[in-house]
Amino acid sequence: MKIDTTGLTSFIPEAEIFQTLENTKNPTTKRVREIIAKSLDKNRLAPEEMAVLLNTEDPELLEEIFEGARELKRRIYGNRIVLFAPLYIGNNCINNCKYCGFRCSNKEVSRKTLTMPELDQEIEALVDRGHKRLILVYGEHPKYDAQFIHDTVVETYSIKKGNGEIRRVNINAAPLDVEGYKLVKSAGIGTYQIFQETYHQETYKSVHPSGPKSDYLWRLYGLDRAQDAGIDDVGLGALMGLFDWKFEAMGLLYHTIHLEEKYNVGPHTLSFPRIEPAIGTDTQQFPGVNDADFKKLVAILRLAVPYTGLILTCRESVEIRNEVIEFGVSQIDAGSDIGVGAYSTQGSESYEKSQFVLNDGRPLDLVLRELSEAGFLPSFCTGCYRLGRTGEHFMEFAVPGFVKRFCTPNAVLTFLEYIEDYASEETKEAGMKQVERELERMPDGDQKKQLIERIEQVKNGQRDLY
Ligand code: SAM
Ligand code: SF4
Repeated sequence: MKIDTTGLTSFIPEAEIFQTLENTKNPTTKRVREIIAKSLDKNRLAPEEMAVLLNTEDPELLEEIFEGARELKRRIYGNRIVLFAPLYIGNNCINNCKYCGFRCSNKEVSRKTLTMPELDQEIEALVDRGHKRLILVYGEHPKYDAQFIHDTVVETYSIKKGNGEIRRVNINAAPLDVEGYKLVKSAGIGTYQIFQETYHQETYKSVHPSGPKSDYLWRLYGLDRAQDAGIDDVGLGALMGLFDWKFEAMGLLYHTIHLEEKYNVGPHTLSFPRIEPAIGTDTQQFPGVNDADFKKLVAILRLAVPYTGLILTCRESVEIRNEVIEFGVSQIDAGSDIGVGAYSTQGSESYEKSQFVLNDGRPLDLVLRELSEAGFLPSFCTGCYRLGRTGEHFMEFAVPGFVKRFCTPNAVLTFLEYIEDYASEETKEAGMKQVERELERMPDGDQKKQLIERIEQVKNGQRDLY
């Protein structure tokens, strides 16, 4: 793969972002409310509008932002939360990202790449716990080329265990060239995620001192090349805490606008991980983001991009997760272990092979129970992607409340599969109550009738109805 960024320039207007953040300080109550209302009408916000929200400090107005985010989530996504698990394929890396335990200069991390039989064992362990959606994660290394990524995806889909299998594989890996993306796409991937880490070029340069990742533009245009290769389902992210989080939030919005303008479709998801401690790594050297700012960030991202999924990971504590799920998160991981080979060995060697440390160590079953008890509807749905509803088409469908109408029944059916095949007694009880609440909430009619029929089919052993 040849890295070529000739003719490319950054679409992140740094000076303009700093100026906008400066000009929008001390916003009026009227202006903040206008912007929240625009978002509740399901419009993407402009950068200046996001900056106004970022500069809101008044506690009462901040509460209005939080409530706006909760309301928008209810209107667009309902109470559904999609579950997934990360699966680390290999932690060899030729980059030297200063925040990451996998960086090549880190002698304390133990290196490992799963062999195909080991990958099979990991998949079986995940399927056995009830997972249906994975994100495969790779360091950046010549041996993790497009062919390798393709082959690991194909292998993942091929594994069947009991009633289960993995139905959607997303990718978090280094940016590829167009040919590479085409090959990976042919394996049937869902979303291709690349986090820019920081949109601030000078900071980017200092935290990525060597390796292919030190090229800001190659990474910035990484998802353009994915789109050029026909992958219309892409995920953006920034590693929060490397630089000013408000700047990064604006960067994510400008990146979204760039994709919308060029490809007529924004990103499928945004990720906003905070830096966590990592083996052999001084993560205290970065500014970080405190809890109060993090909550504000999530709520503002929700309002800024109403139709983009927000992903929250086990990097965050249970307490924070419970709080911010309410204002806008649509996907979470659960029962995660990020050590290479950790699922099939029950995490015994996890720490030495992990990229960073997780804060939410609850097993999937417990997370599902607690979500149900809190009134959320857990979902393992993969329907849209398998019906070809991605990218531009997905956006069209999503606009008139599609997500609520079609996703809720699919969420109920996939959660019921979990309840039937994998749940503990306590989770079964809490889960069935949630399923019943969903049915009560649905208006009588054909849709409800069909769902009741399908619920019976699942109870009678049929699987994967959508
Ligand atoms: N190697 C590829 C790359 O860098 O894009 C793929 C995935 S990397 C293993 C996944 C993401 O983990 C990175 O993009 C980064 O944002 C995040 N990450 C790295 N170090 C971290 C840390 N100490 N705490 C939290 N997240 C971290
Ligand atoms: Fe390698 Fe990715 Fe970690 Fe950077 S963030 S050191 S590229 S695994």
